[in-house]
Amino acid sequence: MDDARPLPQLPAELLRACYAEAVRCYPSEACGLLLGPADRPVCDEVRLCQNQQDRLHAQDPVAYPRTSRTAYSLPAHEVLFLERSLGSERPVKIVFHSHIDVGAYFSDEDRRAATWQGEPLYPVDHLVLDAGPEGVRGARLYRFRDGDFVEVARYDAEGARCEP
Ligand SMILES: [Zn+2]
Repeated sequence: MDDARPLPQLPAELLRACYAEAVRCYPSEACGLLLGPADRPVCDEVRLCQNQQDRLHAQDPVAYPRTSRTAYSLPAHEVLFLERSLGSERPVKIVFHSHIDVGAYFSDEDRRAATWQGEPLYPVDHLVLDAGPEGVRGARLYRFRDGDFVEVARYDAEGARCEP
């Protein structure tokens, strides 16, 4: 991954749209894509996706032991959208999903889903939302650096950037 990519700015209203989706999906994990212009370090569009995890789990609970409460899976056509966007004028820059009652950490499952043989699948960052019964408490942005995903930004319950 090109580690020189500037950190994309996330307008608070964009984050709040993600938060609203997480509240709507609770207690299932919400997921989606954030995109923006290739020539400016900002995201200005949310693409909400339907979490496929429950469907996969119902079809094959051995291969997919987790339900949507503890995992997310993007639909195949959204993965295709992501891949096709990468060389375009409006690339996907961030994949987001929510965590249910466990905090916005980057889990081993998240690592597994975002990497292949130790390398990130796509040149995107990952935003994890901390969803609870009272709403979304905040979010954290993770980027792959030196072999692992590390936190690079944190956002409060209003969608504003804040200090860790
Ligand atoms: Zn996760």
